[in-house]
Amino acid sequence: MRLVLATRNPGKVAELRARLAGLPVELISAADVDGAPEVDEDRETLRGNAEKKARALHAHTGLAALADDTGLEVDALGGAPGVHSARFAGPDADDAQNRAHLVRQLEGADDRSARFRTVLAFVDGAGAEFFDGVCEGTLLSEERGSGGFGYDALFVPADGDGRTFAEMGKAEKNVISHRGRALEAFTTWLSAR
Ligand code: IMP
Repeated sequence: MRLVLATRNPGKVAELRARLAGLPVELISAADVDGAPEVDEDRETLRGNAEKKARALHAHTGLAALADDTGLEVDALGGAPGVHSARFAGPDADDAQNRAHLVRQLEGADDRSARFRTVLAFVDGAGAEFFDGVCEGTLLSEERGSGGFGYDALFVPADGDGRTFAEMGKAEKNVISHRGRALEAFTTWLSAR
């Protein structure tokens, strides 16, 4: 099977390629597809955005397509920023601005619990399938670590040893991360198919 991944992020492609090793799947990315559609992520749920991206790429290529969407759910903020995580500090916010905004929003908060959630949507001629991955953790009031991206430097996963995601190696993070868990669910399903 040829599978097209709805991302141009080389890190995500490499992670999925490593997980698919041994399965009869040839993986390509949206960067390899002529005229791959740019999709506006305007749905109100992670699932809605992931499905929209996967359906658009499947329609364009005729290939099986996989898309992901991730959000950080902060309990003290009623689950925000969630599906709006990429634009938490504003429409053009970068990762550092989003982290600074989160630190400010949580000033004085006693409840620091949060979770990352990834939803994967797989779409082929037979329809859509969804796979979720969740990583529970707590948020620091100051950044720690220089690896990773996004909110990593503020997030201490519950299944780790007290380090933030930004203090872990990529492989170590992938074992317990939301995206790693969603990919694990997807590859388990795919190999049983
Ligand atoms: P996307 O769905 O991968 O585009 O991510 C949505 C938002 O969540 C962006 O602000 C990302 O920086 C952030 N994000 C996604 N995955 C992670 C992660 O593994 N660690 C930290 N932040 C992440």
